[in-house]
Amino acid sequence: MNATPLAPRRALVSGASISGLTTACWLTRHGFEVTVVERAPHLRPGGHALDVRGPALEVAARMGVLTTLRDRSTKLTGISVVDAAGQEIFRSTESTLTGGRLDSPDVEILRDDLCDVLHGAVGPRVEYLFGDSIASLIQDASGVDVTFVTATPRRFDLVIGADGLGSAVRRIAFGPDEQFVRPFGDLYVATFGMPNFLGLERWQVMHQQPDTVGALVMGLRKDVDARTYLGFNAPEGIDQGSRDIDAQKRLLADRCAGAGWVIPEIVEHMLRATDFHFYSLSQVRMDRWSCGRVVLVGDAGYAVSLGTGQATSVAMVGAYVLAGELAAHKDDLVGGIASYEATLRAYVTRNQDIALEQNSRLDAPAGEGEAALTGSIPDFGALTLPFALETYEGVKRPR
Ligand SMILES: Cc1cc2nc3c(=O)[nH]c(=O)nc-3n(C[C@H](O)[C@H](O)[C@H](O)COP(=O)(O)OP(=O)(O)OC[C@H]3O[C@@H](n4cnc5c(N)ncnc54)[C@H](O)[C@@H]3O)c2cc1C
Repeated sequence: MNATPLAPRRALVSGASISGLTTACWLTRHGFEVTVVERAPHLRPGGHALDVRGPALEVAARMGVLTTLRDRSTKLTGISVVDAAGQEIFRSTESTLTGGRLDSPDVEILRDDLCDVLHGAVGPRVEYLFGDSIASLIQDASGVDVTFVTATPRRFDLVIGADGLGSAVRRIAFGPDEQFVRPFGDLYVATFGMPNFLGLERWQVMHQQPDTVGALVMGLRKDVDARTYLGFNAPEGIDQGSRDIDAQKRLLADRCAGAGWVIPEIVEHMLRATDFHFYSLSQVRMDRWSCGRVVLVGDAGYAVSLGTGQATSVAMVGAYVLAGELAAHKDDLVGGIASYEATLRAYVTRNQDIALEQNSRLDAPAGEGEAALTGSIPDFGALTLPFALETYEGVKRPR
């Protein structure tokens, strides 16, 4: 007797960044009809470099994009640390602050380059709703009714929140941010692009004023914009409720007033930046990542935070497992979601715990001079956890 083929299942993914695009890619390969809704009017530009490590390298290989990622990686050659007068006080050609050891097998790549490569892997079968956002979700036993800020209402078999630290899906389906987003440390950071006025080639330069402000500039080529982290410590905390970018820029400019090195010039460029992104170092901790047919992936459900450089890898592994478990459970979507949570939970929790341990280590007095600077470059490779990736039925490696 011939089995009746299953009707394609319709999935809505909120967010077109690392976890959303990886999820969309794998769901499409597993036969889902996928719609991606992204708040930005196109793939969101900006961000510093991200790292693809450990099991995420294998996810990338199975997507057929690992060689492209390596080709487009930052290929940094080192870092200088400078004092307020711009004098170099430390230099390494073995490690950088963003990527760790330069001889590691990991891939460090600009965030928007990674999105571009993942977007290419998704292919033409996915529908995108750019410049829109989910407004409401109402689910019953067989599906989820979704309204959008702009698009007409639609019904899906499941909804996946891949919309980052400030996830709208999490807020709508699970509750306010305060319940789940845990700032740790007191560091607030902005990333943005600016002219490479320091003339850096595959090099990064950092200046840090103890317990106040710091900047890390990375230049890949003289004719290409540099990427900057500009951040400050605020032990008293700040009100992050506002998404008003101009207000965030003014706050950062105020905090940087009087800072040394070329920070005043960096602030001028920051005020004009169109790819400005501001956030606090935070984790998302949740007892459950799903609620019926609504499920979270990546930073939305389990942001690890900047400290260990693992957030992107955990997001890619999470997306791969979610899509695979959904496919493996065929028409039992809720069973697939439960299996995703069970498969991933220990890996995510351990990564988050390591980030907390790492953060308290960095908070501790680190000695003086070069020893302190060397000690602040984490060995990201040693912090990378293994994860045994299942080969999901029907998944073939692209040739
Ligand atoms: C612009 C930007 C710059 C970043 N820069 C850095 C960096 O320099 N260093 C670093 O370590 N990490 C950075 N990150 C975070 C990093 O990408 C993640 O920690 C990690 O890669 C996991 O990615 P994610 O896809 O789960 O979440 P994110 O990468 O945060 O992606 C979330 C996506 O959802 C979209 N979105 C948000 N709200 C909605 C909504 N309501 N409806 C629809 N779409 C929505 C966002 O525009 C974004 O495309 C940045 C993220 C962004 C969005």
